[in-house]
Amino acid sequence: MVRRLEPYLKLSIVIPVYNEEENLQNLQKQLQESLAIVAADYEIIYIDDGSTDKSYDVLAKLAADDTRVKVIRFRRNYGQTAAMAAGIDFASGQIIVPLDADLQNDPKDIPLLVAKIEEGYDIVSGWRKNRQDDLTKTLPSKVANKLISLVTGVRLNDYGCSLKAYRSDLIKQVRLYGEMHRFIPALAVLEGAKIAEVPVAHHPRIAGKSKYGLSRTFKVFLDLITVKFLLGYLRKPMYFFGFVATFASLCSLAVIVLTIVDIGFSLGYIQLVIGLIFAVIFFFLAIMFVMMGLLAELLVRTYHESQGKKVYTIAKTINLVG
Ligand code: UDP
Ligand code: MG
Repeated sequence: MVRRLEPYLKLSIVIPVYNEEENLQNLQKQLQESLAIVAADYEIIYIDDGSTDKSYDVLAKLAADDTRVKVIRFRRNYGQTAAMAAGIDFASGQIIVPLDADLQNDPKDIPLLVAKIEEGYDIVSGWRKNRQDDLTKTLPSKVANKLISLVTGVRLNDYGCSLKAYRSDLIKQVRLYGEMHRFIPALAVLEGAKIAEVPVAHHPRIAGKSKYGLSRTFKVFLDLITVKFLLGYLRKPMYFFGFVATFASLCSLAVIVLTIVDIGFSLGYIQLVIGLIFAVIFFFLAIMFVMMGLLAELLVRTYHESQGKKVYTIAKTINLVG
């Protein structure tokens, strides 16, 4: 039995939309049915992330029929995380629930997540226990989930599930970059957030296409390096740089020792030396790139946060002020 939300609490649903014209009407219908059960006051914020199909027209129609539907239209495609960030920035509810526009998440699960928030959790994360995607998605995701859990120390089964519920005051503090939305729980735990995970339904995509391929796994892996750096070393970067530098020096020392020892025995030592030199150069290049990546991450944050810049630009809004 689902309890209704206290009447003074407002629910904000946040939905990134990128070329989902065939899904939106059906989604809106299912949302209205599900939200009628749980909340007296709610808003549904759709963020059109630069769609090139008719998504915006469909959204404008939905907003004309119901003022609780709000629409933000981006100037171009900024990605799901930026869309989610915009929705969260504009949300006026005390509880914020993001979900996908493609009906892979089920609006029927919203009351479940919200009830858990009311029990006192700050973040309730959906767990697609029976995930309906093919192996090219589920396999990398399994590895990524294990890795994220290991590296961040926050134990969740499914970080990638968009369907989550957040206490608004907490999530509005978290700045989102890159594909970082899946790391919100890890970042929030650091601020003392209480997290729960509940199994949710997951359906195969019926209309429209998935926007992601294998390259996402790679981006997630890079974001994980950034998150680990931010979690542990944001206020003391020299420890991190110092550790990597020590490791690199030891490696180079080992290579020198090995080379000297080997010259004594083998004939093709010139090739060996050249090979080693190249190996060393590439090794240090790799390290330098990671380091520069981290510096860039810091610079990006300084750039956006010192000037209050957003990670997106808005073309227009409907039913929203500001
Ligand atoms: N999405 C978006 N901007 C993008 C890519 C995706 O707003 O650049 C939205 C998309 O419309 C959907 C959600 O993010 O609502 C999840 O995308 P998708 O279903 O393609 O991901 P998958 O379920 O295949 O992992
Ligand atoms: Mg999907």
